[in-house]
Amino acid sequence: MGASTKTIETFGSTAAKALGFAVFCFGVRQIVLATTVTNKHQLRDLTVWTTQSTVGRNETLGVAKSVKLPDWMSDWELEHDGRRAHDFAKLDDQAFQRYLLEQEAEWKNELAFCLLPQAFKEKIKLDTWPLIARAWLRSFLLANLIYLGLGLTWAYYIYNVYGFRFFPTGATPRVGDVAEQVKVSLGALPMYSFLPALCENIVERGWTLAYVRVDEYGWANYLFYFFAYMAFVEFGVYWNHRLLHDLRFGYDKLHYIHHKYNKENTLSPFAGLAFHPIDGILQAIPYFWTLFVFPMHALTYELMLFSTAVWTTNIHDCVEVECQPIMGAGYHTIHHTTYRHNYGQFFTYMDRAFGTILYPDNSGKKHWNK
Ligand SMILES: [Zn+2]
Ligand SMILES: [Zn+2]
Repeated sequence: MGASTKTIETFGSTAAKALGFAVFCFGVRQIVLATTVTNKHQLRDLTVWTTQSTVGRNETLGVAKSVKLPDWMSDWELEHDGRRAHDFAKLDDQAFQRYLLEQEAEWKNELAFCLLPQAFKEKIKLDTWPLIARAWLRSFLLANLIYLGLGLTWAYYIYNVYGFRFFPTGATPRVGDVAEQVKVSLGALPMYSFLPALCENIVERGWTLAYVRVDEYGWANYLFYFFAYMAFVEFGVYWNHRLLHDLRFGYDKLHYIHHKYNKENTLSPFAGLAFHPIDGILQAIPYFWTLFVFPMHALTYELMLFSTAVWTTNIHDCVEVECQPIMGAGYHTIHHTTYRHNYGQFFTYMDRAFGTILYPDNSGKKHWNK
């Protein structure tokens, strides 16, 4: 590690960087708003899902198509402020968007809550638990399911099934280290789950540029904004992570917890979410603020946010697969041993652009190939 890569930030320099980036984002947002408003289709032209057969009413409202919902959604329609499909005429675009987003939230809840006992499901109905609390519970259940389900499956395959190929004898992590990673992660999951729940609430209020139906912008714009959004997220994650190292406060108070696992035989797939809760949230928060810069499809944003839990499992398993420009486990293992390289998330672009890349082949360390 060369001294040139060591730049210790202060609160002032960090604030200056954040301000510069915020001004840049605001400029991009203004350009996006000026160029997309004309492309955007009116929400009332879009497909609407309802439990009622309302073809005639939809025609008068200008709603192009309607999809019949299963009958259990009629409970939601009744609970949801008593609002029914016949109220669409009274809703402006923002209120209609909110209706569609909240309806989508209920679909996701039904999916996530299907394993809960019926008696508990009765207790958390909309009239007793607000949407944001139900979104938190859903995020919490899914996060646990992904973390434990994927971690156990991953560990079983890399250690038990293919361990002889990936790890020399004695190079697998000790049970005590893995147990601590699981403990730190499970302790942080309730806090992590506030981020998607709060974001969902803010998106429902129409404060971001997130949208609910692909038809609003069309597939070409959907793809364009998706890539632009993910590029900004990559930038944000890189700098948040780098500042957590370069700012003494960030490292000493938050990020050091994740860097306790700094040897190849201590890292495991379970280290992927083993952060101080605030550290984990800081590294995920670019997914939220970028919703203010680009129109992003709401469900896609959420899937990308949760897919980071899958990705972080992969990069902590110490099983190296070189595939440029993907920032795989080989790169992240180096990050855990030098502290000063490979801060990126999915790709190597940011580390290459800002001079912090260290390739697995050049690190002078022993690595194992899949
Ligand atoms: Zn780090
Ligand atoms: Zn890590």
